[in-house]
Amino acid sequence: MRISSIEAIVLRLPRVTAACDGTQDTCLIRVDTDAGITGWGEADSAPTVIKAIVDAPLSHQLCDGLANALTGADPLAVHVCRQRMLQAANYYGRSAAGLHAMAGVETALWDIAGKAYGQPVSHLLGGPHCDRFRAYCSILFADTPALTYDLARRHADLGFTAIKFGWGPMGQDAATDTALVREARRGAGSDIDILVDAGQVWDWRTALDRAGSFADCGILLLEEPLAPDDLDGYARLCARSPVPIAAGEAEARLEDFEALLRQGGLDWIQPDPGRCGIWTMVQAGRLAASLHRRMANHSFKSGITMAASLHALSACPGGELFEYCMSDSPLRHQVTRESFTLENGRVPVPTGPGLGVTVVQDTIDRYRVA
Ligand SMILES: [Mg+2]
Repeated sequence: MRISSIEAIVLRLPRVTAACDGTQDTCLIRVDTDAGITGWGEADSAPTVIKAIVDAPLSHQLCDGLANALTGADPLAVHVCRQRMLQAANYYGRSAAGLHAMAGVETALWDIAGKAYGQPVSHLLGGPHCDRFRAYCSILFADTPALTYDLARRHADLGFTAIKFGWGPMGQDAATDTALVREARRGAGSDIDILVDAGQVWDWRTALDRAGSFADCGILLLEEPLAPDDLDGYARLCARSPVPIAAGEAEARLEDFEALLRQGGLDWIQPDPGRCGIWTMVQAGRLAASLHRRMANHSFKSGITMAASLHALSACPGGELFEYCMSDSPLRHQVTRESFTLENGRVPVPTGPGLGVTVVQDTIDRYRVA
């Protein structure tokens, strides 16, 4: 089997705001083969940048677009394809967007391989260690503590056993930060775990102070209190924090997850398969398990990323928690036919061949802008 074409497809809602919500646009990756098998992937990045990286014409041997790099290659040789992409993008793609684009293509290759072998991706990766994951309801804080209470109330009875509140007004001052979490806890009730995603708003000393305040509300973890590159800050914070600290959604390289775990001392890492790729996510999760730490996914995109996350999580020992994005965007819910229904608070890993999802062409036609 050979890759016949790779297409990057940019989808975008008619109105996009500055809210930190990854479901306002996306870049899907479609990989076609001469055997008639099509694979789908998705990158969580700047969509038009990803498309440019996929479509880029040849400049020279170490500077080529990903479609050029892989057209004619065997899609079942996923690791060979990863190396070809790394070489083609050597001068411009060794971090961030270059790796995000490769992540999207890699997901499509795993999808093709699963369809070709008639197996779910989790099996190709050596799993599953676990065939369903405890899902936490992932939402953004409301604008005020009082509105956050109402928000928590509305999400407390949807079948989830945990809710994460993120970003929004967090970081203004100590009183507001603490009130936001207190009202989230009050609205969620005592039977539901709450998680807090701070959104990179503090230095380590402020984060330590807030962690102390939030500990009284019984939070399950505190996510991204610091800037992604503040390894020294994470090391100081994690050594002292009374609540577990999580981060890692911004990383795309295995060595960066390793640094967060070993130097930063993180309790949880949160790779996004649309940024680091399925294989790096699996490697990071296995490393975390070997260090007696934990991995949850970061996923704020369509059903393609939801499925990729579930397959990667299931290939790692010790996985338990799954981020379940609650955005009402059609790019979250209508890109795949599958809707990932909760079963007793858990989401099953798809069992169909490949990613186990079916892409809806009507949604692509409706929201495609490039
Ligand atoms: Mg986050």
